[in-house]
Amino acid sequence: APQLGILGGGQLAQMLALAALPLGVRVTMLEPDDQAPARLCATHLHASYTDAAGLDALAACDAVTLEFENVPVAALTALEGRVPVRPGRELLERSKHRAREKEALRVAGARTAPFVVIETGTDLDGALVRIGGPGILKTSELGYDGKGQARVSDEAGLQAAWDEMGRVPCVLEGLVRFEREVSLAVARTPDGQVAFGPLIENVHRNGILRTSLFLEGDPHEAQAREIAGRVAWAWGLEGLMTLEFFQLPGSELLVNEVAPRVHNSGHLTQDGSSVSQFEAQVRAVLGLPLADWRPLLPCAMVNIIGMEGTDGQPLEPDWAGIDALPGTRLHLYHKAWRARRKLGHVNLVAPDARILRERLAQLERLIP
Ligand code: ATP
Ligand code: MG
Ligand code: MG
Repeated sequence: APQLGILGGGQLAQMLALAALPLGVRVTMLEPDDQAPARLCATHLHASYTDAAGLDALAACDAVTLEFENVPVAALTALEGRVPVRPGRELLERSKHRAREKEALRVAGARTAPFVVIETGTDLDGALVRIGGPGILKTSELGYDGKGQARVSDEAGLQAAWDEMGRVPCVLEGLVRFEREVSLAVARTPDGQVAFGPLIENVHRNGILRTSLFLEGDPHEAQAREIAGRVAWAWGLEGLMTLEFFQLPGSELLVNEVAPRVHNSGHLTQDGSSVSQFEAQVRAVLGLPLADWRPLLPCAMVNIIGMEGTDGQPLEPDWAGIDALPGTRLHLYHKAWRARRKLGHVNLVAPDARILRERLAQLERLIP
């Protein structure tokens, strides 16, 4: 059986492993956390990402992919020449660093919000003027779920925010007044076959994804595919990556960021598409034919995030209510509760857009 190695063992690795098994593929993952979600459905190499024995075991696989882009570069260099790592090191180094990523997006011909790279204190001078108004300061590395970000509207606020972040390399981005946020996955095999996921509409709350929605016939799908295809080609993608976009009022799409892997917004493909984003990544990484990837039904997803009541106690979703709502499917990550932590998600499919929106509103009321 083909062996797939994964760097990281979180919920994305869990769902990649669940998608790999029916294809006859066995998964081995390298992950330091002994409680990581993927431990239950993949062989767990329980060690640091740079552990020599762990990396030897990954090198024995047919291909290695990742579910977490912040693995040390040393881990990637240690695997180089021993096993195909997909996506490759160059693409990963780009997509884990906001400043490099934005520059590389522009080189590939994709538009982004106006930005200024902040590396030293003098880069702050006039930076807000250059982006044309208020902005968001983001650390170039390690940010997720809105962590490592601050909204700034004047020079003093910008200086204070950068000090607060420990003066690490950052990007200052112009605040985009978007109409909505959308995302799209693109998969590419080493021999150049390309397939796209559905165009998905996303709603964030406090910097964390709350809901995703797919409806047939989105008028922006062609534009999103064109941009994603162009970036995938320019960056030499092998595997799968997901682009997050801001849709402007004039209907132009700006790329917000790129995840070199499956993405939270794509979870709804588990229940609403012919192939899930997880199967698409497994296939692309192993060079298996990319099956016809198309949506089957209108579908949505609501994240289950650790929420606390005013008394600091966890707020539970209404589990029975979720089960009773037609078209729902629960996906849990076997993680301990923690405030703001992603613990699972509920996918929802419906026969048409009107029913989907109605049931999505009901589902949202069941999940704090
Ligand atoms: P993720 O968990 O998606 O990796 P992240 O921490 O990398 O999140 P971003 O995707 O950059 O953060 O930002 C999180 C959210 O904050 C965006 O989805 C969007 O809602 C809002 N946001 C980020 N940048 C901007 C911007 N320049 N203008 C307006 N809103 C923004
Ligand atoms: Mg991000
Ligand atoms: Mg994001």
